[in-house]
Order: sequence, then structure tokens, then C-alpha cells
Amino acid sequence: MRTIQRIEVFPLRLPITGTFRFASGSAGAAGETAPLVLVRLTDSEGVTGWGEGRPMPQWSYETIETVTTTIRRYLGPIIQGMSITDRWGLHQRMQSAIGRGPSMGQPIARAIVDMALHDLCARVAGQPLRCYLGGSLERNSVALSYTLTTHDVEGVRREVEEAKTRGFRNFNFKVGVVPESDIAIAEAVRQTAGQGAFVWADANQGLRVQDAQAVVRGLAHVGVNVLEQPFAADQPHLLKRLRMIAPLPLAVDEASVGPADFFHYASEGLVDYLVIKVTRSGGIWPSLQQMAVAASAGLPLLVSGLTDGLLTRSAVCQLATVYGFDGPAALNGGQFLDETRLYPQKDELESGGVLRLNERAGIGIEPDPEGLERYLVKDL
Ligand SMILES: [Mg+2]
Repeated sequence: MRTIQRIEVFPLRLPITGTFRFASGSAGAAGETAPLVLVRLTDSEGVTGWGEGRPMPQWSYETIETVTTTIRRYLGPIIQGMSITDRWGLHQRMQSAIGRGPSMGQPIARAIVDMALHDLCARVAGQPLRCYLGGSLERNSVALSYTLTTHDVEGVRREVEEAKTRGFRNFNFKVGVVPESDIAIAEAVRQTAGQGAFVWADANQGLRVQDAQAVVRGLAHVGVNVLEQPFAADQPHLLKRLRMIAPLPLAVDEASVGPADFFHYASEGLVDYLVIKVTRSGGIWPSLQQMAVAASAGLPLLVSGLTDGLLTRSAVCQLATVYGFDGPAALNGGQFLDETRLYPQKDELESGGVLRLNERAGIGIEPDPEGLERYLVKDL
């Protein structure tokens, strides 16, 4: 039996190239650095697998420090020696080491380990991850959604035009950052992007209750396709009330961590999409369970992320194509992170508003050793 032998954790800080604000905080500003944690698992035959995640404390509660120590001191020791194929057992063991909060505890730390084990298993099987998970070699590309970062009408028009010249066809933007401009910005996005674009508004829990009715009607009127996470994750009663009058599709993000969370929202009829966000959901294995719930409930998929690195973006697209998903994916790390040294092959995989999956076994990409060394946080 092949077993997990070695678990190595690499906390990194990557340069940020663009400023990104949302209602509940920021993913950093140009000139700052973004935390990224990578894990390399090695099995008893010497085969390796890589996982990656981006802790973002302003979005949830995990930090580069907690993710690093949770994996090194709690998750790593408890999975050492277990069979590499036992992903059900992996999550049982991780749950026994780090219990739940309101739902799954420390999902980003778990997701990094889960992703590394999936990469390892698919490499041992000699298959790209999407084939290992039950998908096809031929479903191999996902259209990306461009994340708008300006919060004024003229700026948004310029950004959409510029992104269109680079191949992007779908756009997501943040509402609740400059609330008085939300509808004007939405209208500018729709007009500039064109009728065929998927236009996606995300409130990141920041919609004011007193504004909600006018905002959802305004967004629907100008042709926005979906509104994501209008209210605080722990206030589903507000979403329930809004649902009754909202004339546009709704989605949850921060509120849907474990599969049971999504089941609740789906069974209550509160959402129109499953937003797949692998690192928020504890990894590929629990995300597969969420996707099965969505398929059973007849709900389509969207994909988003936490301004992740290329390894995560590729892993997420490998997973999403299994269920026939080809876009749009708001996987925007390529807009905000300087990954040229960590993933020198980035342009082969991601360009023209599309992420393309190769035919290599596993996720299909791994970090460059020199880039890893260059950005390593050595005092953690
Ligand atoms: Mg979101």
C-alpha cells in the first residue's frame, strides 16, 4: 500500500501588482505582498503532489500563520502513514484534528492538503486530475471572468474595454464599496461588455438592508446576471426576505463552506447557482459533494476564488470541467499577483481570458524551485 510519508509546508509572500477592494476589505494593494501557502506531499514510492491556498483574513479568518501551523502541527502528523487513495479517510482524520465552527473549521488549511493529495493520486494514476475525477481529456478550457477594480463609471468603462482587447468576455464587479455608484457602474459594465457577457455582482456581505430592495431592482433593470452574498453570512433570514422580492438570480459565497451549508441554501430555495470556491470549501473532495448536491437540485455552477495562485486556479478548473463547466470563472489571481518566477509557464496555461488545461498527470503544473525559495517566508 502506498502511503503518505512526508508533508512539507512552504509559506510564501508574492508581489501584488494591482489593488483590489471589496465591501468587507481588500485583497491587497500594488506594491504589497500576498500570502500563499504551498504543501508538497511525498508518498512511500517518492511521488509528490502539490497543494496551494491563499489565506485572506479580511475575507475569512485564516492567516498565513494559522494555515502554516495548522498543517505543520495538526493536519500533517495525523495523515502521515495513511493510504494515498483514501480521500474520505483524509477528511475524517482532518476533522478529528481540527473540529468544526458553525461549519467546517479552517477550510483553507484543509483544502491545501486535500489538493496536494489529489495531485499526488492523479500523478500515480498517470492521469490529468480531471480524468482521475471522472471527467474527460477533451473538456480542457474554462473562460475566465475579469474582476473590475475601479469604482467609478468612466474607470469601469475603460477597464472593460481594455479587458475585452485582452480576450475577456465576462465581468464581475464589487457592489457596496461605493454604494451610491452601484447601479451606474452595473449599467456601464453591461453597456460596455455587451449583451452576451455574463455580468456578476458580488456584495461580499456588504449590502445595507435599507438599500437592498432598490439595489436588487436596479441591478436587475440594467441586466446583471447574478448577485452574490448580499448580506452577512450568519444572517440568512435577511436573504430569505430579499429572495421574495429580488427580480434577479442570487448566490451565496461566504455562507456556503461545507456541503451541508450549500444543501441548506439549495433546499430552502434561496440560491440559483452553486459558487464553487475550492479553498473556502475545504478542498476538492468536499467540493465534489457540493457539486453533487447542486446537480441533484438542478442548479448550475459558477466558479470563483480567493485571488489564488495558478496551481489553485488550475486545480479548480480541473474539477469544474468534470461536471461540464466551461465558464465563467472569477479566478482572478492572474490579474493581481506577480507569478512570473513562481510559475514561469503561466502564459501557456492562462491567456486571452481563458485557462487551458494540459494533458500532464495531476493538476498539470508545479512551482518553480527557485521561485519557491525566493518568496519563502523563512521565519514562520
Ligand atoms: Mg464572492
